[in-house]
Amino acid sequence: MDSTASRLAEVRGNITRVCKPARREPADVTLIAVSKTHGPEAIQPLIEAGQRVFGENRVQEAAGKWPDLRAEYPDIELHLIGQLQSNKADEAVALFDYIHSLDRPSLLKALAKAMDKAGRRVPCFVQVNIGDEDQKGGCALADLPGFLDRVRAADIPLAGLMCIPPADTEAAPFFALLAKLAADHGLTGLSMGMSGDYKTAVMLGATHVRVGTALFGGRP
Ligand SMILES: *Cc1c(COP(=O)(O)O)cnc(C)c1O
Repeated sequence: MDSTASRLAEVRGNITRVCKPARREPADVTLIAVSKTHGPEAIQPLIEAGQRVFGENRVQEAAGKWPDLRAEYPDIELHLIGQLQSNKADEAVALFDYIHSLDRPSLLKALAKAMDKAGRRVPCFVQVNIGDEDQKGGCALADLPGFLDRVRAADIPLAGLMCIPPADTEAAPFFALLAKLAADHGLTGLSMGMSGDYKTAVMLGATHVRVGTALFGGRP
């Protein structure tokens, strides 16, 4: 096995392993391979090893490398996990199957308009500023109930909640809080967990983990 395939097997094995004590089914956890900064030559081996779900954090970068790969592998599923500017909503709706960074009314408006125009509804996770950090994207905790009402009213398919916990601190309490918020609002999707903490996230209910470094190695 080459190193990419063995890393994929290792991450999948870890997910399966922590599912057991958590009494969860591995099939209920979607592994999103975060391929940002990596070119097609790094992505291809992962596709050949069976991975079909990928994540990118920039619209422009994804538009440059994914159309060719998708022509070759039509069953690829592409997730936008990074912050999205309203003026890129059309492009994002055309390119991605899921958006994880819906976090403010102006973007909600732009996405609803883009989806109407394209005749395509792209399921969105609402990103929550779970650590209440000044510089961080995400909907403020206090604004979440009202914002979720607006998303539902705009007829945007609500996939669940997403968070990026504060750096350099224990992630588990933030994952637990996101899971509670989702349950309180009747949402089942939980996009949480990265290379350093995806096992913890799965134990606490993540349905989508976003893993880059543990699959691709370090980013250039
Ligand atoms: C880059 C990124 C990831 C993956 O991070 P790794 O630590 O490389 O696994 C996950 N989520 C978001 C939002 C990212 O930008």
